[in-house]
Amino acid sequence: MSLAFGPPVIAIPGPSPVPDRVLRAMHRASPDIYGEELAEFNLQVMAKLKRLAGTGANLAPYIGNGHAGWEAVAANIFSPGDETLLLVSGHFGSSWASQMAEMGIAVEVMDFGCAPADPGRLAERLAQDRENRIRAVMLCQTDTATSAAADIPAIRAAMDQHPALLVVDSIASLGCSPMHMDDWGVDVLISASQKGLMCPPGIAFVWFSDRAAARGRTALTTPVWDWHLRAGAEALWRFWGGTPPVQHIFALDEALRMLLDEEGLDAVWARHAALAETVWAAVDAWGAGNPDIRLTIADPVSRANSVTALSLPGASALRQWLSANTGVTLGVGLGASDPDNALRVAHMGYCNAAMLMASLGAMEAGMAALSIPRGRGALEAAAGIVAARA
Ligand SMILES: *Cc1c(COP(=O)(O)O)cnc(C)c1O
Repeated sequence: MSLAFGPPVIAIPGPSPVPDRVLRAMHRASPDIYGEELAEFNLQVMAKLKRLAGTGANLAPYIGNGHAGWEAVAANIFSPGDETLLLVSGHFGSSWASQMAEMGIAVEVMDFGCAPADPGRLAERLAQDRENRIRAVMLCQTDTATSAAADIPAIRAAMDQHPALLVVDSIASLGCSPMHMDDWGVDVLISASQKGLMCPPGIAFVWFSDRAAARGRTALTTPVWDWHLRAGAEALWRFWGGTPPVQHIFALDEALRMLLDEEGLDAVWARHAALAETVWAAVDAWGAGNPDIRLTIADPVSRANSVTALSLPGASALRQWLSANTGVTLGVGLGASDPDNALRVAHMGYCNAAMLMASLGAMEAGMAALSIPRGRGALEAAAGIVAARA
């Protein structure tokens, strides 16, 4: 027999669980892509995506994943040899830097290890750049590997009078943590469909300010990446550079209705914050009995709302045990110095207290089965947070 039979619980940081409603919204025959109706519907979805990001700026959608979003941005704001500063807090920041370096961009990395970017160090670096050679300051709002969360308004403040564009990857944070693109002075924002947005992978979004648009075309701007063609599109096919991903547009409409119109963004963010705290409470209790079990980000204000990275002896074996015996799938210890003894618990998008308590309870069972030493009372601690925040 297997105790894994039943609905699977996926707690990996993307693709995240897709609500049945969203899957049903996709279950439609393709309509006439030259008709007025779909063009109008697409515009409504674009308007909702701007509300989600807190912006009245421009929006270019791309068929692709987060990596495609990164490349789209680089191809619109840089020419080969241009200098940029990337603030790295984990695997995703490093991968982003490598991708841009391969495009011939002069990427300078400021590595903050397993901590969010420090505005003070950024200000010092920019003060040395008297000729304003640095064209952009770039960072992940949440680095999904370490679960470090950056303070975007503090980063903007540290840029002071420097003319560099502020470019933020919100792939693991949009729809989970607050984002006020215009109020916070973010010039370029990148996200993708498969994490906080609760849709299948396949679409990347780039919102960009008029200041970023003023750069015009660069030596890297090719027709598929050109954001001017998409954001200013008059015809539906222009938005998408060809056939629109029709079923994905229906999915997005349904998911955005759930987030913006039904739950409301403030409640969405508060839910993610409470779920994150629930995981932290359990890990702290386990760690009280075993110092090798600990959250990757020590300072609570620097932790993400959407995913929690931790060290745990035997994490790889625990992950395997959980998927074989309980139906719970946790995230791998991506980018950790010792990946076999690290894992990540995702709590992004379509996730509630029941799913999270199930994951934590299954972890308790797995640690018992594998004799992993740990402190007691983790589930009581987690339940206490749910009780207090509900
Ligand atoms: C998932 C993720 C990416 C990469 O997105 P893909 O869709 O896998 O290409 C980039 N940045 C962050 C912060 C992510 O979480």
